[in-house]
Amino acid sequence: MPAPLDRSSTWPYEDGEVGAFSYSRFSSPTAAHAEQALGELDGGEALLFASGTAAALSVVLALCSPGETIALAEGGYYGTNVLFRELSRWGLRYVEFDQTGEPPDADLVWLEAPSNPFLSMPSFELTATHRGPVLCDSTAATPVHVRPLDQGCDLVLHSATKFLTGHDDALLGAVVCKDGSTAARLREFRDRTGAVAAPDVAWLLLRSLPTLELRVERQTETARGLAERLGGHPKVEQVRYPGFGGLLSFDVVDADTARRVETATRLVENRTSLGGVTSRIEARSRWEGDRVPPGLLRLSVGLEAGDRIWADLERALEIA
Ligand code: PLP
Repeated sequence: MPAPLDRSSTWPYEDGEVGAFSYSRFSSPTAAHAEQALGELDGGEALLFASGTAAALSVVLALCSPGETIALAEGGYYGTNVLFRELSRWGLRYVEFDQTGEPPDADLVWLEAPSNPFLSMPSFELTATHRGPVLCDSTAATPVHVRPLDQGCDLVLHSATKFLTGHDDALLGAVVCKDGSTAARLREFRDRTGAVAAPDVAWLLLRSLPTLELRVERQTETARGLAERLGGHPKVEQVRYPGFGGLLSFDVVDADTARRVETATRLVENRTSLGGVTSRIEARSRWEGDRVPPGLLRLSVGLEAGDRIWADLERALEIA
């Protein structure tokens, strides 16, 4: 059983002294348990945040100063771009680069493994010697497939909303740090800004971690088969799949066809997000505009039988 859920927002002092837990904006026993478990999976010190975006915001504001530059992997999560653009009012600069090659000089390098929705993988060898810290958003890979800290990165970021909690019932972010001083700075920043995760949501991560490997391996096996079958379908122009994980994207000829495909599936739900136990598909242009091809469909593979998912997709492609 996961550790018990302690919803307290305050705990008594111990003989008049502040103990390990005093006020839940700083930490709670449930969050501390979940951080311990995630830290072991990624091989570092984990901190939970209210969302993946709150985790990203905290990294930037805690570790960068106005006028500094982030080298951001192009084709990654569009919300990271939106966030960095927002922060440019506060003096943040960012440049996008092709993460399969060498990053430009920057104060922080921001990778994504694999990028969502273009599914490129970073070249860890080419970032290992970079002068600034290197962060890898490993939301889609999870520690089941990639452990960026073992590959020379300094920080790992997760939208734990996705595969880590895995059931579409939690909004949660995490940063896992290689060294204790970075973790201490982020913790201090989180205490001051209140970007912390609630105990209930931390408990949902504890509930989900024991099934993470099982879920992700099954999603990988199914996604591999689907990527292959989609690649052979006459209405599919391109398939992007890095060979592991439950996330893939493919292109049909145009936006109208993409709309018809996503609204024709029955088993595969037409909704956003990824990493849940139910498969879902969506045309990403509704969110990302012309940053993505108009016919790009993102598919997050759940735990349903692969043949049933394929039958559903094939039928939707046929009538689209
Ligand atoms: N990073 C990636 C790769 C994502 O896909 C997302 C959300 O879709 C985020 C970060 C942001 O996470 P959250 O929605 O938990 O704020």
